[in-house]
This record gives sequence, structure tokens and C-alpha cells, in this order.
Amino acid sequence: MSSVPKSSRAACLVAFGQPLEIRELPIPETLEPGAVLVRTEVASICGSDVHLWQGEVGVRDRLPLPVVLGHEMVGRVVRLGPGVSRDSVGQPLAEGDRIVWTHASCGECYACTVTHQPTLCPRRRMYMFTSCQQPPYLVGGFAEYVYVWPTSGRVKVPDEVPSELASAASCALRTVVHGFDRLGRLEDYETVVIQGAGPLGLFAAAMALRAGVHQVILIGAPAVRLEVARQWGVTHTLDLDAMPDARERLRYIRACTEGRGADVVIEVSGGATAFPEGVAMLRRGGRYLVIGQVGGHEVALAPRLIVEKQLTVLGVMSGDVDHYYKALQFLKHNRERFRFEALLSNRYRLEQINEALEAMRQWREIKPVVVLA
Ligand SMILES: [Zn+2]
Ligand SMILES: [Zn+2]
Repeated sequence: MSSVPKSSRAACLVAFGQPLEIRELPIPETLEPGAVLVRTEVASICGSDVHLWQGEVGVRDRLPLPVVLGHEMVGRVVRLGPGVSRDSVGQPLAEGDRIVWTHASCGECYACTVTHQPTLCPRRRMYMFTSCQQPPYLVGGFAEYVYVWPTSGRVKVPDEVPSELASAASCALRTVVHGFDRLGRLEDYETVVIQGAGPLGLFAAAMALRAGVHQVILIGAPAVRLEVARQWGVTHTLDLDAMPDARERLRYIRACTEGRGADVVIEVSGGATAFPEGVAMLRRGGRYLVIGQVGGHEVALAPRLIVEKQLTVLGVMSGDVDHYYKALQFLKHNRERFRFEALLSNRYRLEQINEALEAMRQWREIKPVVVLA
């Protein structure tokens, strides 16, 4: 058995908007059946970490402070709980293997068993939404060790996928994969518009290109992110800084689509006015995949547009173990075509976590990476 210390350093959110505190938390000595203890290799920063840190609307009441922030991460197995010999997709699992893992759904409720939508499980336990004052303490990614709950799906990371990319797959990409699963088939004559050029937008662009659609139009800022998309083969990029007028953007999309509008719009910006704009950009009969709208804002929208345009509007929340597996496979099989490393920005140590979060908050970096091992 690997030698595991008695405690682990972890970056804890103690008060909203205040710097995270590095604390020593106990490492549980015994694991429940089905649980796994990992030594964190890498944790990347997601926009949600920043929203939680700032205590934005919608999350304040759900966070039992203090919590260990971080929910995009990769760990190397150091202890397997009783009964664990394989990952959730049947691959043998041993100490030393790298894994990514899901939040923990109960497996026994209506969402888990009848509708097979475990991300909607009302009893779902979520990393970084769980107090770090009770066992098993280490339930967030910005920590040297993490406790993988017995009911958390876990997937072994293929050797071809570096930990930094696997980490980005464990939230940003798996959510996009879930969205594409819901969208269904994309045709080679279709135009996909993506609202938002952050990690989700760039991953969505790669997946749409991989699907072989006619055009992928990425709307976002700053220009450096759009440049990554162009290098990957995105057909058009629309710089929000250069075209701040929504009516002008709508004209642009129509001009690119023979006046019809986009077949598919994917919303990953979280922007306050993105939703009505996306609806306007869709062709009659189009599909709208909404991932980024997690803020507390409200917008005015004429619901008749959904009827008159006969739209399909699809929401997506998080991802389940199949999406993690597919996300890792997508990275493994498309590394030649897309230089995914362009998404990753600066590397930080755990004690620099506040710098990394601040860089993300100010949009100075696409995806900061905290290297823990
Ligand atoms: Zn996330
Ligand atoms: Zn459930």
C-alpha cells in the first residue's frame, strides 16, 4: 500500500469573496466500501469555482462553508475501498492509476432509476458543495488528496491523455459532451453558432467541427480565444469587442446562412442577454442547446417565438459517468487535429490558488491549472 500521510493541504472557502485559506484536513484512514482515495495530480479552474468563490446569486444558500473549492481534477489512486477492482466502465483499477470521477448520485430515486438522468438526482452529493468539517473532509479538487465517494462514477484516464487535459475534461468537456448527446445528430450541411469563447465554447467548437458540420461560427471575446478557435478550423469568429451591437451580430449570422439563421445555437457564455439573442439567431425549426445560463438574471422573451419558429430548447446540467468516458476518448482520438493544450494557461501551485482564481475572474486566462503533484 502507498504511504499516505495523516493530513492533506486543501484550499478552503471560508467566507465569500475572501481569499481561500490553505488548511490541513485529516485524511480518512479507512474507506467505505466502494470509495477511493486519490492523490490529486492536477486541478484546473472552472468558471463555477469563481462564481462560488464570489458567492454569486443562486449558490450562496447552497454552500455549507467552509468547503474545499475545485471540481475539475485528476487524481492518482492511492487507496481502494473494499470491493473496488474496476472503474465504472469495467476497466481494471489499481493503485497508481489516474482517474476522473463524477459527483455522487443516489442510484435509488426517480431521476436515477426511472428517467436515467442522474445529474438531476435530488439527493446528489457534489464536490465543493459539501462541508469540509465532517468526514471524509477532502471533498473538493483544490487539495492534495480527494475522497471519491462510493457512488461517484470513476473512469481511468487513458495513457495518451495528459493529466492537465483530463482535468479540463472532468467538467468543461464532459458537460459539452452531455450537451451534444442531447442535441443528437448534426448534419454536414448545418451551421452551428456558439455563444461564448471560454473553455466550453472552444470544446463545443471542436466537437462541432469533428461532427463535420458545414459551418461553425464562434461568438466571443477576447481575441486571443478566437484565435485558438481559428487555428482549430472554426469557419467564422465574431469578436464581441469589435461587434458590440446585437442587431449587427444577428445580421452577420443571417448573412452567413442565406438569411435562414443557424440550425443549431449553443449557449455557453452565461451572458445576461445571450438567451433572447440565441433564439433570434436560430432558423425556423432550429435547436437551442443551453449550458451556460447559471446566473440569477431574468430576460424578456416572447414565448410565441418558440411556437412560431418551432424551436427545440435543450438544457444541460453537469454530466454523468458516460460523458466523462466519452470526453476522455474525444481527447485521446482528436489530439492530432486540435491542439487542446492551447486552452490551458498558466500553472500555479496550491498556495497560489488565489492568484489563479483572480486571473480567471478577470478573464486574463482561459483555464488556469493548479499542479499538485
Ligand atoms: Zn465546472
Ligand atoms: Zn438519485
